[in-house]
Amino acid sequence: MKVLVLNCGSSSLKYQLIDMSDETLLAKGLVERIGLDGARIKHVKVGSEPFIKETHIPNHDVAVKLVVDALQDPQHGVVKDLSELSAVGHRVVHGGEKFTRSVLVDQEVLKGIEEVIPLAPLHNPANLMGIKAVMHALPGTPNVAVFDTAFHQTMPAHAYMYGIPYEHYEKDRVRRYGFHGTSHFYVAHRVAEAMGRPIEELKIVTCHLGNGSSITAVSGGKSVDTSLGYGTTEGILMGTRSGNLDPSVMIYLMEKYGDPKVVSDVVHKKSGVCGISGVSSDMRDVEEAMEKGDQRCKLAFDMLCYGIKKYIGAYAAAMGGIDAIVFTAGIGENSDLVREAVCKDLEFLGVKFDPSKNKVRGKEAELTTPDSKVKVYVIPTNEELVIARDTKELALKG
Ligand code: ADP
Repeated sequence: MKVLVLNCGSSSLKYQLIDMSDETLLAKGLVERIGLDGARIKHVKVGSEPFIKETHIPNHDVAVKLVVDALQDPQHGVVKDLSELSAVGHRVVHGGEKFTRSVLVDQEVLKGIEEVIPLAPLHNPANLMGIKAVMHALPGTPNVAVFDTAFHQTMPAHAYMYGIPYEHYEKDRVRRYGFHGTSHFYVAHRVAEAMGRPIEELKIVTCHLGNGSSITAVSGGKSVDTSLGYGTTEGILMGTRSGNLDPSVMIYLMEKYGDPKVVSDVVHKKSGVCGISGVSSDMRDVEEAMEKGDQRCKLAFDMLCYGIKKYIGAYAAAMGGIDAIVFTAGIGENSDLVREAVCKDLEFLGVKFDPSKNKVRGKEAELTTPDSKVKVYVIPTNEELVIARDTKELALKG
């Protein structure tokens, strides 16, 4: 059974084709600049040179058609005909409170995804366009929607509510939703496997540190708290997003500059590691400048690591202990400097960090001594595989 996984943005579309008989990746690619000048598809058949084609791509229908053509192309394709594509899994950013797990797409589900557009106005419309484009290109093929928010729907109310009048929850659906759910789910399960223990008996803090970042408390395999909230700016410092901010700062800036759009740009696009360092949103640049003595880069680095450490402490307290800490995504998988800064001085929690194991990049590794009570791991995330597994399961149930 071959499953196509799609991650559709407003002007881009990432895809992977996975053979689910042994979960191997057959092909992957990216369609960029949909609806813009210079649009192109980059398609890679595993083990071969990339195929790149620049062409006019006015919309997602054309983008999906290009993907489907690339997959069955005689030279760089991986299937003989489209009947080999058994199902398509779609990453959908927001499922609101309606979707607590992945679902087979039907008219009712499309309506549900549409209903939560106000909660994710940039992402959900693009995700919907992707699903509809596949329905046109591959009629009869089952589509499955996998939500970034679903894993966090197990949070108790005392963790997801904000302390504002209850009516804003009832009327406006303002609450913590959390994101990166498929990633937190994947690495939490993977670390339990690596530790050889059932996830049901573990308390894990998963640190997904990319351009967008979030930290999750996973107790007994369930998300019980997470650092991203209603939108995608809460929690720790991110590439360009602020992380936790006193609401009074927003009010002050709004009154001073008189325009919510300006302030929205500040907290989404100009803040975080980028805003503090003044150098870059990319941790590699920031670490390089820091090592040459740049003080603002050092400050951004320290703020990030301090923030992560605080969440680990808070979630250890919230869960009544902790068995494992996991680092994942671009920074978590690659930055030994961040991991060391976060994990040093955590002996009081039972973490015996071993710096000699910490030089790994992008591969699974345990970073603690054998007698460490709390284990620290690097686990490369694989959101596409989670989407493909859910898609296979739901499509087979049909
Ligand atoms: P996204 O949230 O866009 O999926 P990624 O998970 O790809 O992001 O993470 C991107 C981040 O990972 C960037 O800040 C990048 O600098 C950082 N990163 C990648 N490689 C390294 C590295 N070797 N050292 C430090 N940071 C790295």
